[in-house]
Amino acid sequence: MVYFDDRRQQRSRQDNQMCNFFMKTGICKYGEKCTKKHTKPLRSHTVMFHRLYSDPVYIERGKLLNEMKKSGRLEQSHGYNTNFLEEAAKKDGFDKEKAQKQLEQFFSDVFVELSLKYGKIQDMGVAGNLNKYLNGNVYVEFENESSASICFLKTNKRWYNGKPIICELSPVVNLDAACCQSYETSSKCDRDSSCGYAHFLKFDPKLEKTLYASQWKYYHSKHLDD
Ligand SMILES: [Zn+2]
Ligand SMILES: [Zn+2]
Repeated sequence: MVYFDDRRQQRSRQDNQMCNFFMKTGICKYGEKCTKKHTKPLRSHTVMFHRLYSDPVYIERGKLLNEMKKSGRLEQSHGYNTNFLEEAAKKDGFDKEKAQKQLEQFFSDVFVELSLKYGKIQDMGVAGNLNKYLNGNVYVEFENESSASICFLKTNKRWYNGKPIICELSPVVNLDAACCQSYETSSKCDRDSSCGYAHFLKFDPKLEKTLYASQWKYYHSKHLDD
């Protein structure tokens, strides 16, 4: 017979074995080498697409990093915590406005396609963390688990922008839990590229409003037609 306290201890032992980052963001920097458990859910409302967005800032950062390594400037700087976003934006030839438009176009395209094909989207975010395991990851939280399951099964076999789509059902319960609170409120994070929580890229709130309003209209009229 297992007593209440034993069960509680058992549960807390199990919780201690789970990787907190994986549970909250669906990804962890240690990947398969992590000493904690990464349990992938069989059912979820959220699908995470690995590096679906090719972030021009991250690409620019990679070039800068290489240049700095070659010239030995990396050791003199603050290492990987240098604010590469600022540096990249200041660099000649990097068009910040163009990058922002590219992001907004990408967001609209993906939102509309997934919503029309698989079901109502509750929330969606594109991670802009300047590290290789989070950058470009797209989180899509559907209203229904069935939409997420079909989306995961169908899109995993497709290609996007010349790359195979890799996605999975994510343990992320909602995007608020996955995001970095500091970045969300101030667009800054002291942990910079080493932060393990999602820095969701920001754009014109009007665009998001329009997308969700159009989605609502579409599903509302569909419901009336049924
Ligand atoms: Zn982990
Ligand atoms: Zn952060």
